[in-house]
Amino acid sequence: MAQDKYILALDQGTTSSRAMVLDRQGAVRGLGQQEFRQHYPQPGWVEHDPQDIWRSQLETARVALRNAGIAAADVAALGITNQRETTLLWERASGRAIGPAIVWQDRRSAGICDRLREQGHETLFRERAGLQLDAYFSGTKLAWMLEHIPGARKQAERGELAFGTVDSWLVWQLTGGAVHSMDISNASRTLMLDLRRGHWSDELLQVLDIPRALLPQISPSSAVIGKTLPELFGGAIPIAGVAGDQQAATFGQACFEPGMAKNTYGTGCFMLLNVGDAPVASAHRLLSTVGWTLDDGRTDYMLEGSVFVAGAAIQWLRDGLKLIERADQVQALAASVADTGDVYLVPAFTGLGAPHWDPYARGTLVGLTRGTTRAHIARAALESIALQSADLMQAMRADSSCELSELRVDGGAARNDLLMQMQADLLGVPVVRPRNAESTALGAARLAGLAVGYWSGLDEIASQWQLERRFEPAWSQDRRQARMARWHQAVALSRDWARPGP
Ligand code: ADP
Repeated sequence: MAQDKYILALDQGTTSSRAMVLDRQGAVRGLGQQEFRQHYPQPGWVEHDPQDIWRSQLETARVALRNAGIAAADVAALGITNQRETTLLWERASGRAIGPAIVWQDRRSAGICDRLREQGHETLFRERAGLQLDAYFSGTKLAWMLEHIPGARKQAERGELAFGTVDSWLVWQLTGGAVHSMDISNASRTLMLDLRRGHWSDELLQVLDIPRALLPQISPSSAVIGKTLPELFGGAIPIAGVAGDQQAATFGQACFEPGMAKNTYGTGCFMLLNVGDAPVASAHRLLSTVGWTLDDGRTDYMLEGSVFVAGAAIQWLRDGLKLIERADQVQALAASVADTGDVYLVPAFTGLGAPHWDPYARGTLVGLTRGTTRAHIARAALESIALQSADLMQAMRADSSCELSELRVDGGAARNDLLMQMQADLLGVPVVRPRNAESTALGAARLAGLAVGYWSGLDEIASQWQLERRFEPAWSQDRRQARMARWHQAVALSRDWARPGP
């Protein structure tokens, strides 16, 4: 394997497509980025045009190669990471999508979920697929398409259609329809995967009424699964790594051992904990999911939890309360007071997720006195990000009995040093921030490079993870527990507020 080559990583996100050329050290050598249109045809519906996804991704890949000044022949492998759960359906013969992509945020299949719940299937999905029965996941979105797109079910039964997540769609387009696959990390978000066995579950397919002829083959996350059409980039490139965005970020953070975890601080937070070579059933309604399967068959499983409102709480300080003008000003304002003065903000603007799970909870600000200032409120908002993440981590530790040694962090709000120190104090373990902030694209590149021998193995990849800053916990266990207990009192006050009356 020529070590002077590069890896091309495609990062197909919810609002933009990005592409990066990375070198052996994981440094970015060329970048392309393009936003594309979001469609909101009805309240609760979110769609993308499948052609927008493909075209923007192709163009950014070409831009990244051009910016790096390299040709297809200089690329050792291509990796893909993608917005998860977004669902597409297309004709095998023409490669034409038969409807818009239904985006992960789309709630249109909530009624199908209710129906399946009434039929008593919730436990089956939790036990077999490791997931909550929720409109978020691909399975009920696909069921909706088959129910509502005229002729789709008939065509599906005749084997004329292909279902896929965004990775499948890109691989199909990149290979000119030669490969219909879905990597296992994406497959583990469909409600159709038998999580423990790693193949499609006939029982789940039957309950969802999905014809098997629609389904892609499930492929490892790190393995050569096909080659790009030569005309796309002026030469064929092996497609060798695929993973959903959060799993790719976890791989990019080199969380390869049980007990290693990463948290991404963006609009919301996504925390994943590596639980080892067998899935863990959650007693706290966390998700049980595949991290990745490597080409030697090694599979790492994860527990996953998310916070709905994290960086968005800072956006609310900026846009709703107008306490700050820019998100990065929150640190100085919050640091101007030593503590929140016993003020808590529970940013349950859209309800609460794991481990509280209350769709009727609403935002709550408690503990105000005549002495409360905007600084206390800013600090409470910042602290709420760390407190919610600490709740997730506590649930993960309880579910998995994994000993957490440190938390690896990334995302826009992870740049906030005060927040990272709060997080370390509340968790009682160090919080570590890497130099390379591009965990997601890096993860896709690592998965691809690993499969073609560009990197020698997990040890080499792990050794390239470089510390930018480490935050040591400074609080005693008593202080930590007291703070969490006070937070839970505040959470209790936020609950049930929006429950419809009798
Ligand atoms: P996403 O990928 O979800 O769009 P990003 O990773 O780009 O999110 O992070 C942006 C989020 O981080 C915004 O919600 C913003 O309010 C928050 N944010 C950005 N900078 C800071 C900061 N210095 N302190 C706290 N929050 C911040």
